[in-house]
Amino acid sequence: MTTTDRYQAAHVITQDAQGRWLSPGVVDVVDGRITWVGAPEDAPALEECQVHEVRGALLPGFVDTHAHTPMVLLRGAGEGLPVDRWLTEVMWPREAQLTEDDVRVGMTFGAAQLLTNGWTTSAEMYFHPDAMAEGAQAAGLRCVIGPPLLVAEGMEALGPWEEQLEKAVAFAQRYHDLPTIDGAIAPHSAYAVSEVPLREAGRVAADQGLLLHTHVAEMQHEGDAITAEHGVTVPRYLESIGVLDAQVLAAHGVWLTDDDIACFAEHRVGVAHCPGSNGKHASGTAPVTELKAAGVPVAIATDGPASHDRLDPFEEMRLAMRAARLRAGKADAMSAADALAMVTRDAATVLGRDDLGAIEVGRRADLLAIDITAPDLVPVTEPADLLTHLVWSGTPSLVRRVWVEGREVVSDGQAVEVDAAVLAADVTSRARRLAVG
Ligand SMILES: [Zn+2]
Repeated sequence: MTTTDRYQAAHVITQDAQGRWLSPGVVDVVDGRITWVGAPEDAPALEECQVHEVRGALLPGFVDTHAHTPMVLLRGAGEGLPVDRWLTEVMWPREAQLTEDDVRVGMTFGAAQLLTNGWTTSAEMYFHPDAMAEGAQAAGLRCVIGPPLLVAEGMEALGPWEEQLEKAVAFAQRYHDLPTIDGAIAPHSAYAVSEVPLREAGRVAADQGLLLHTHVAEMQHEGDAITAEHGVTVPRYLESIGVLDAQVLAAHGVWLTDDDIACFAEHRVGVAHCPGSNGKHASGTAPVTELKAAGVPVAIATDGPASHDRLDPFEEMRLAMRAARLRAGKADAMSAADALAMVTRDAATVLGRDDLGAIEVGRRADLLAIDITAPDLVPVTEPADLLTHLVWSGTPSLVRRVWVEGREVVSDGQAVEVDAAVLAADVTSRARRLAVG
């Protein structure tokens, strides 16, 4: 049975293909897809539909292009340690003990938090993809899930790389017909995956038309061994072994040369910029302005909740703007409109998804209703002020209603499908067990 919904809002904030910000007022949705967008006076008559009067502003749902959401189980652990000790002494020993059930519970709890904060999609890299999908579905979050391909000491339980790759493809095929879950191929990084499996991961992703999600140039010296062996930087190495023939999502991209940036532009590699995580771990400030000037699609992402603890899109946008402006020494290095585009339309481009990130005919009805009555959002003297205020002063508490695929999954600021208080207690007891070891 077909269902039709009409959303009417005083303010709609969305960007078109030319980069213009529009406020069309009326949005019609049929079976989870946007079918009509425009001014109220032009809206077609509909015989049967449910009308949603949206108080405040209607925005496209935010798209998080790099996350490890079940790490809510490790949130706050290893505070203040340098990144190598944080990883080897705190993260990996706990992750080595994770059960499939831990991942399911952590993902459900984290997915509910992503949704109530305004993220409607996340590109995930984490273990136990079926548990990830179940957690995401339980809360109603849209996900692109790539189980990390990893061949490392202590991670033998993941099995040989051929088997890991086969399982990733089988997962993607199993969920092919479900509109809100997609599979990806996710070799952890060039420094953690050797040449043959990395090459094969690239080939499989290109053949199957799957996103290839990987970490690139997060830490200053992570590519040194590759450069010493192959005589090129990591991006050119990935190019030389065919990995960039796939649709590639590169997380972080902090330590890139001008030639690396040119390489990403040549291959339309998308970058997930994670300023909160990069700041917490003192990784560095990514060359976002340079990447964008070269035509590389760049999005703003959270990374996992052990690296950006709040999973807060508004904080992440502000960190991105401040980092870009301080790095360039220019107040116009990244505008509020640029930052909002980097969690909406640009983020969809980074994932290779032209069906997300904008309120536009043909795209998925992933929508947010945001309260605009908070004192921080006053005054609005011209329409552009509202966008500026939402980015500079917005908080997750202003996100009141959220729809994914046309289904309301957050109402009155609370996750509809799951009991967050029960999950919080469950996450706490599991986190205690993991901490004790
Ligand atoms: Zn990461």
